[in-house]
Amino acid sequence: MIFRRHPDGHRHDVIIVGGGMAGSLVAKELGDHGWRVLLLEAGTGTLATWQGHLDAMDTFYGAVAKVPNAPYRPNAAAPSPDVLHLEGLPQGGYRATGYFVQNGPLPYGSDYLRASGGAGMHWLGLTPRMLPEDFATRTRYGYGRDWPIGYDTLRPYYEAAERAIGVAGDADEQNAADIPVGADYVFPMEKIPRSYVDRCFAVRLDGRTVEDPVAGGTDFTLKVVTTPHGRNSTPNPSYDGGRGYRPAESPGLPNYGERCVGNASCTPICPVHAKYNPLKTQARFGRTVTLVTRAVVSRVLSGTGGRILGVQYQAYDDPAAPVAETRTAEADLVVLAAHAIENARLLLASGLANSSDQVGRNLMDHPVLLAWALMRQQVGPFRGPGSTSALECFRFGAARGERAPFRAVISNWGWSWATGSPGSDVAQLLREGPAPGGKGLFGRELRAALGDRIGRQIALQFEIEQSADPSNRVTVDPGIRDRLGDPRPVLTYDLSDHIKESMVSASALARKIFGMLGATDHTSHKPGPFQPGYFRYRQHEFSFHGAGHGAGTHVMGSDPSSSVVDEWQRCWDHPNLYAVGCGSMPSIGTSNPSITMAALALRSAEAIHRDLSAMHRPVRLSAAGVAGREQPVAAEAGP
Ligand SMILES: Cc1cc2nc3c(=O)[nH]c(=O)nc-3n(C[C@H](O)[C@H](O)[C@H](O)COP(=O)(O)OP(=O)(O)OC[C@H]3O[C@@H](n4cnc5c(N)ncnc54)[C@H](O)[C@@H]3O)c2cc1C
Ligand code: SF4
Repeated sequence: MIFRRHPDGHRHDVIIVGGGMAGSLVAKELGDHGWRVLLLEAGTGTLATWQGHLDAMDTFYGAVAKVPNAPYRPNAAAPSPDVLHLEGLPQGGYRATGYFVQNGPLPYGSDYLRASGGAGMHWLGLTPRMLPEDFATRTRYGYGRDWPIGYDTLRPYYEAAERAIGVAGDADEQNAADIPVGADYVFPMEKIPRSYVDRCFAVRLDGRTVEDPVAGGTDFTLKVVTTPHGRNSTPNPSYDGGRGYRPAESPGLPNYGERCVGNASCTPICPVHAKYNPLKTQARFGRTVTLVTRAVVSRVLSGTGGRILGVQYQAYDDPAAPVAETRTAEADLVVLAAHAIENARLLLASGLANSSDQVGRNLMDHPVLLAWALMRQQVGPFRGPGSTSALECFRFGAARGERAPFRAVISNWGWSWATGSPGSDVAQLLREGPAPGGKGLFGRELRAALGDRIGRQIALQFEIEQSADPSNRVTVDPGIRDRLGDPRPVLTYDLSDHIKESMVSASALARKIFGMLGATDHTSHKPGPFQPGYFRYRQHEFSFHGAGHGAGTHVMGSDPSSSVVDEWQRCWDHPNLYAVGCGSMPSIGTSNPSITMAALALRSAEAIHRDLSAMHRPVRLSAAGVAGREQPVAAEAGP
């Protein structure tokens, strides 16, 4: 890889906007083919250095609220949204500050990170595949949008993505749970072992049935299934026909990137880089890939006949006090990989790719409903990744016609998301002891009460499918701009009754499951500052959270009049413009979306290679690098 600040004077075969998971994977593939790739990244690249990693760890340790962006320093040139920028009001409703402008009935409750590596720095790392039936919800269940391709088309790309990311999983368990990874398939690494919490659930739940009160009394048979992860475990010796698998090392971090050791801070930062992040892909870039950080793309430039010429971007030095210089870069083909919301924002700001009027529409996420309880005995939470297993049964079948499907994710981190535990427990016990209004505890009594309470905490995270709705959308307003003068994303977001019915169902199922576990339900959804997603529905009170799974804003389809990109993520309106990432997904099922997004990105890289090959030949590669081109210069350092 070549790091440099000013690529002027060099024409590139392809410009990629955004060095997150999608952009890094596409850049790596195209670089391996010998194409001259310019990767423009809005944020800094400091996290790829040892000092930058230590700095992020220190910032995280010092943060009061350990939210996803807690370790990462604010950047005034490339601002990121933050979950702390949403506040619930005392009687319900919300107030939004920060980067997003929000004007929907309900808040879009997710964030992302604008730094090299993107949201892939603070993701949780769960990589379940979508189900075959998720690709055709309109045809099969009468809601949402169908994909132009199906699971079988994507299957080889899922396998390629699992290799690129380094996925740990158990194929037999996936197949048995009707998630068809293939009878002969093995994952690159062995599954991340079940937590003790998972085992307590499995002992009491496996094989028992629960009735869904919403979906016509459908019975579901419970089974705890381990989730595939993008984090290092033991390489699988039988992977790749017995050739095995070698996990990627961490860039700039000697001896790091080894096995998951259970530090339990994966979101927002894995101290030992056991969890995949896109910097690992960047570290493997070939020499024809040039990464330029601190380069905020503000417009995509077009010429005659819809052809894209390149991009305009703003180069800055100091993220705290941005003074930017406007530059342009040209290439034969441009790939937008800046995140679902940023891709839409860029297309809208550039006035491109929108003959269907679908750019920015169909914004989706996985609304998350939490339920929490106390077990009678110790279950050892706050160890290992945030979740290692889930109840998969609620994702399938005819019930989807009546309420949106969901995964019931088993949390390993107690009530941390629900109530802010363990900090909230310390505060409450200091204030009033175990009983509300009581006398506070100190010293030995406090320690004993904390150990007793925290060690018995369990929680379920119901991650609910949101289907495409054109009125949930990203727009831009020329009057609302960021420090560099780029329009900020304006969001309109709401939840459908299909989702709200799902919350009714999930709440009832949670109560039944807690009953089977012998646990005492403590779930309470009330308005308040930490509950911006509070609302009432059919006499019920709910409060939901975002999952960070923004999708759908440049939706893929087979008809140019109703979709933005084709099945290769190529914009219908511009033959040499691609928009990759979750924004292309017409539906997101109930799976965390990134492995599907990665599979799509690798498939697009093939199409881009074909498109570029039809124009001309790639540069010749040699062991010494690319003849006649720059040699690597030092990676970025500094703030
Ligand atoms: C808290 C959290 C937990 C998550 N956990 C999971 C999980 O367990 N499993 C899962 O599948 N998914 C998870 N996700 C979602 C996952 O992180 C995203 O799907 C994925 O990172 C998106 O990748 P991307 O490359 O499309 O976008 P991003 O990761 O957002 O990368 C986009 C890149 O583009 C850059 N950029 C933005 N604007 C510009 C511009 N104008 N010019 C130049 N560059 C620009 C950004 O700086 C960034 O580096 C989680 C998300 C969050 C927030
Ligand atoms: S549990 Fe710890 S070591 Fe494992 S991925 Fe999460 S933060 Fe990294």
